[in-house]
Amino acid sequence: MIEFKNVSKKYGEDYAVEDVNFKVEEGEFFVIIGPSGCGKTTTLKMINRLIPLTEGYIYFKEQPISEFPLYEMRWDIGYVLQQIALFPHMTIKENIAQVPEMKGWKNKEIDARIDELLEMVDLEPGKFRNRLPGELSGGQKQRIGVLRALAADPPVILMDEPFSALDPISRESLQDDLIELQKKIKKTVVFVTHDIQEALKMGDRICLLNKGRVEQIGTPEEFLTSPKNDFVRDFIGDVDGYLMKQATAGDIVKNLPALYEVPASDSPEVVQETDINTLFKYFSTHDTVIVAGEDGPKPLSRQDLFKYLSKNESGDVR
Ligand code: ADP
Ligand code: MG
Repeated sequence: MIEFKNVSKKYGEDYAVEDVNFKVEEGEFFVIIGPSGCGKTTTLKMINRLIPLTEGYIYFKEQPISEFPLYEMRWDIGYVLQQIALFPHMTIKENIAQVPEMKGWKNKEIDARIDELLEMVDLEPGKFRNRLPGELSGGQKQRIGVLRALAADPPVILMDEPFSALDPISRESLQDDLIELQKKIKKTVVFVTHDIQEALKMGDRICLLNKGRVEQIGTPEEFLTSPKNDFVRDFIGDVDGYLMKQATAGDIVKNLPALYEVPASDSPEVVQETDINTLFKYFSTHDTVIVAGEDGPKPLSRQDLFKYLSKNESGDVR
């Protein structure tokens, strides 16, 4: 869906992004991570041509991005920023409706779409449709920002640290929201963050940048089990190596609720003693496993595992 071939961006003599190569598949959640100033925002903005590239090629739907009219890029690629700038004098509905209106959707279609979007993130349409942004909490505003990017149903969404200005609790709840939403809508998402826990939890694959260059691209499991060099190892340092070696499926589900019966699904059943590496193997083909135990079977998701393995700023999540 999106491909970078030897892409560089120079400001004067300095490279902000240097010789970057990657391919984002359709429906993939691709995370770009790295320290401040490493070139994440520049990489993202080159995709929808908010920043022109200096060298190399970027392809969108197999065509060089230079061949698309700018308006088409903006319509086909939703964009979510760290601080959503909603228009303060426009209602939530009017804010979300902008791109569909530009694209000439009928009022009826727009109204139905807005209600559908609000329901997808559990904001009651009757309650929120006609509110002004000032009446919303920070977390609710970010949710609206995500919905606005989704409004005209673009195949691709770019997100630049969309949750980093939120408190840890709202951040976690929006991350969970977005994971659930993505299961339903299966967009191609390029998501920028500097938070390794967020990257491990959200990403199908992660691309780690350092001073404009790619250090490693791989799945969360690959980052944890085979970091390519010391920089990668240091960057994922927050994740507890001891837990990686010692923890079992039983430890992880200890505080999760049990089910009364095993749901009819293709989720594999595992025993309490299953180790992390074995779980990684299951999660390469399934979203959830069922952990058998004395107090009943418990579902364990890939996100539960990464939450367990990482710590957040509010302290231990374990
Ligand atoms: P990140 O999003 O990872 O924090 P950026 O992509 O914003 O990093 O910036 C990458 C590098 O490019 C930084 O060193 C930054 O100072 C530099 N840079 C970004 N924009 C400009 C600009 N308009 N002019 C000159 N240098 C810039
Ligand atoms: Mg940035």
